[in-house]
Amino acid sequence: DPSRLPVRLGDRAYDILVGEGLVARAGALIAPVLPARRVVVITDETVAALHLPTLTAGLAEAGVGIVSTITVPPGEASKSFPQLQSVVEAALAAGADRRTAVVALGGGVVGDLAGFAAAIALRGLTFIQIPTTLLAQVDSSVGGKTGINLGLGKNLVGAFHQPRLVLADTGVLGTLPPRELRAGYAEVAKHGLLQGELWAWCEAEGARAVAGDPTALAHAVMESCRLKSAVVAADEREESEEGGRALLNLGHTFGHALEAECGYGGELLHGEAVAVGLGLAASLSARLGHCSQELPGRVISHLQEVGLPARIGDLKRRFSAEALMGRMRKDKKARDGAMRFILMRAPGDCFTTSDVAPLAVQTLLRDEG
Ligand code: NAD
Ligand code: ZN
Repeated sequence: DPSRLPVRLGDRAYDILVGEGLVARAGALIAPVLPARRVVVITDETVAALHLPTLTAGLAEAGVGIVSTITVPPGEASKSFPQLQSVVEAALAAGADRRTAVVALGGGVVGDLAGFAAAIALRGLTFIQIPTTLLAQVDSSVGGKTGINLGLGKNLVGAFHQPRLVLADTGVLGTLPPRELRAGYAEVAKHGLLQGELWAWCEAEGARAVAGDPTALAHAVMESCRLKSAVVAADEREESEEGGRALLNLGHTFGHALEAECGYGGELLHGEAVAVGLGLAASLSARLGHCSQELPGRVISHLQEVGLPARIGDLKRRFSAEALMGRMRKDKKARDGAMRFILMRAPGDCFTTSDVAPLAVQTLLRDEG
C-alpha cells in the first residue's frame, strides 16, 4: 500500500500518496475525490509516450471518463501565456465543465501549467497532481504554487491553487534521465538542511536514492513532502517575512542567479544551480561565523558524492561576481534591492536575512569563481 501523508491547510485537507505503481491505480485512487467521474489529463510529449497508456488504462478501469488528453511540448517554454490559453481552450472545447477535474501527469512544467489552467478555467477546477520527476515529487507538486513565465522572468504570473490529491509514484522515476534525478535530489538535500534529521539520512542513504533504489526514493519523497507541506501549512501564501515559506529558498538566491546567467536552455538544470547554491550558502554562513567551519565541506562533499556540482568551480563556465550580484539584487525575493539569503547555523537550523554585507558575498563569489 502507498504511504499516506495528510496535509492540512486551514479548513482544507488532502493527501499525498507515495509508493510504486500509483499511476496504474490512479483511477481507483482519485475517484473518491472527484466531483464527477470525468477528468482532463494534461501531460507533455515525453511523459505521454512513457506513462500515459498506464494512466489511461487505470482511469478506464475505475470508470473515470477522460474528457480530453492535452499534450504540450516538453520543456520550460511550455509555461507560457500562449500555451496556457491553448490548454484552457482545448479543455473547454472538449466539454470540460465545473465538475471536471484537471489531472497533471508530468514534471514541474506540466504541474505548474496545468495547475494554473485549473485555477483559472471556469474560476477554478479540482486539481490532481501526478508528478513524474523527482523534483516535482519532492517540491513543485507540494504547496499550491502554479504559474507560467514571462519574458521578464520566471514564474511571474500565477495563482495559489492547492491540489485535491497528489500521487507520487516512485516507479515512474525509473524512466527519468539520471541527470534529472540528481537535479531533483538537490531539493531533497535542501529539505534535509532545513530539517536536520533528513540531512543525516541524506549523508547516510541519499546516494542510494540517486542510484534509483526504490525504498530510498520513497523515503526521500515522503520526508521531503512532510517538511515542505509543514512549512507551507504554516505560511500558505508566503506572507511571513522571517521564516515560513521563505526558508524553502535556501540555496536559491545564488541558484537563481547562476541559472539566469546560463539561460534556461538546459546548460544548467535548476537543481544543479540549487546544489551550487547550497554549497555557497553553507560557505557564506561559515564565513560570517553562523555555522561551524566544517559544515560547508560536508555539504559540498555530499552533493559532489551524488554527482551534483556544489561549487562554482564544478561548473564548466566562469561567472563574473558582479554579474551574479546584479542578478541577486534583482531577484523577486530581494527587498528594496537588498539581497536576501537563507543562512545555516546547523542542519535543521536555518534563518532568513537581508543583512549580509555585499562585500562578503562578492569576496565569496570571487574566491569561488
Ligand atoms: P520538467 O517538467 O521540464 O521535466 C524535466 C524533463 O523530464 C522534461 O523533459 C520531461 O518531459 C521529462 N520527464 C518528466 N517525467 C519523466 C519521466 N518519468 N521519465 C522520463 N522523462 C520524464 O522539469 P521539472 O524539473 O520536473 O520541473 C521544473 C519546473 O518546476 C520549473 O518550471 C520550475 O519553475 C517548477 N517548479 C515549481 C515549483 C512550485 O512550487 N510550483 C517548485 C519548484 C519548481
Ligand atoms: Zn528549487
